[in-house]
Amino acid sequence: MMYHTLIRGAQVVDGTGAPPYRADVAIENERVVRIAEHIDAPARNVIEAEGLYLAPGFIDVHTHDDLEVIHRPEMTAKLSQGVTTVIVGNCGISASPVKLGSEPPDPLNLLGERADFRFPQFSDYARAVQAARPAVNVAALIGHTALRVTQMSELQRTATESEIVAMREQLRGALEQGAIGMSSGLAYYNAKQSDTAEVMALVRELTAFDAIYTTHLRTEFDQIIDAMDEALETAREGQVRLVVSHLKCAGKGNWGRSGEVLSHLQSAASRQRVACDCYPYSASSSTLDLEQVTPESEVTITWSRPFPEQGGRPLADIAEQWGLSLQEAAQKLQPAGAVYHCMDPNDVETILRHPLTMIGSDGLPKDPHPHPRLWGAFPRVLAHYCRERKLFDLATAVYKMSGRSAEQFRLRDRGVVKEGAFADLVLLDFERIESTASFEQPQQAARGIEAVWVNGTRSYEPGKTGLARNGRMLLRDH
Ligand SMILES: [Zn+2]
Repeated sequence: MMYHTLIRGAQVVDGTGAPPYRADVAIENERVVRIAEHIDAPARNVIEAEGLYLAPGFIDVHTHDDLEVIHRPEMTAKLSQGVTTVIVGNCGISASPVKLGSEPPDPLNLLGERADFRFPQFSDYARAVQAARPAVNVAALIGHTALRVTQMSELQRTATESEIVAMREQLRGALEQGAIGMSSGLAYYNAKQSDTAEVMALVRELTAFDAIYTTHLRTEFDQIIDAMDEALETAREGQVRLVVSHLKCAGKGNWGRSGEVLSHLQSAASRQRVACDCYPYSASSSTLDLEQVTPESEVTITWSRPFPEQGGRPLADIAEQWGLSLQEAAQKLQPAGAVYHCMDPNDVETILRHPLTMIGSDGLPKDPHPHPRLWGAFPRVLAHYCRERKLFDLATAVYKMSGRSAEQFRLRDRGVVKEGAFADLVLLDFERIESTASFEQPQQAARGIEAVWVNGTRSYEPGKTGLARNGRMLLRDH
């Protein structure tokens, strides 16, 4: 017996939350075929992994990589963190099924330009992903706002009966073709006017597929509990699993409320299936929202269509230079993107630590000066929150980034290191691991990620380029 790959002597953190144990791990074709204390059989590739940890490849449950996986299939920002699967289509925006009559409205413009939206059917998108052969696996949600944009002539109102019928039909088609669920982004200008009944009507379409519903809440500021109740009620109506996206207490008036918000979620979890994701930073990022432009929290511009040279600068400096108020300067910069320093670091820690919480980066790959979470989220959880702040042990950190995520999103045979599971693996040096992406220098590969395998193929090593890309489209499990 000659194995394709044998990883020897690593501490296996298997993604279930169980304590690490020392083992040899053999890979054949695309799966882990054997795990044992000692494997004596020869292998074409032998990796001596003494002193390193072998974990399941991380699952980034919250991404906007819909078009990135097609346009830049190397996916270095993700692969270099140990991420082997991305969930795309979050916050109500997805690349498909979309038909545009004009420029993509906010925040669909976070994903791409008008010409990039060329997937009227989900199956067109799935085929394009397969053809691009990205370096990571891709599972996709369908965005509520994407459906609205395609079926409604006017977004500043709730949908009519006939528009709802059309959206439901479009959503059903995508689910039949393998989409894993639906997302909404009710805080955004172009989805805000949809009432709960509109969203519920769509979520009811998920029931027959037991598909998942994820939501960027209607608000993450003072009224967050009401917004959470709306999401919980919507998911209950469809009897579907709910994921509250990038849970946070935004705005100074809301700081210190993470305990209250989490106990609300925890008590709901005794009645229905609910979880949340979180990125490990106290600053958020999205398109530039005039409502979030206040003197109370610092805002940095990341991109601006009319003034690209202002990317990376604080809004306050731009306003001062232009002799304008913050609001006036922000209006002049539109359309634009921003980082908002709007959270209390203690709230972020409380949310990350909670057992309902998974890790998602929410990285924005098209942004020329992105929030550092795009390149740094997963290593930062390991280095800062696990090793330094000791919010949780390594097994728990890995579980939040792999096994738990695979359970929630039903990614079969992924998220665990187990005989028979897909060989999506990351070999890491826990003592050395460091997220080097910063707000000033956001596009930097982490230290301490020694090797990454995707479907059994070695796909990343620090400093090496041109390794094989072996990700695939993951369609909903039937
Ligand atoms: Zn969002």
